[in-house]
Amino acid sequence: MRKCIRCNTEMVEDLDIKVEGGAYGIKITQQGLFKDNLGKLKCAVCPKCGFAETYIQDTSKIKKLTLNNKEK
Ligand SMILES: [Zn+2]
Repeated sequence: MRKCIRCNTEMVEDLDIKVEGGAYGIKITQQGLFKDNLGKLKCAVCPKCGFAETYIQDTSKIKKLTLNNKEK
């Protein structure tokens, strides 16, 4: 469960982010062409103050990246 960092209210999670006018979501990728899709960007919104934050649900690929960076 996510709590709003502003007012500590329980947030509504698992919302999709879409580009206005299109059916496309937003994904996070590494820099460069043909890099892995690191996960779909999700959004949580606080029903009280309207604060919205984004997050990636599956962080396993991101965790792998931090491990790789440490080895370098
Ligand atoms: Zn809030």
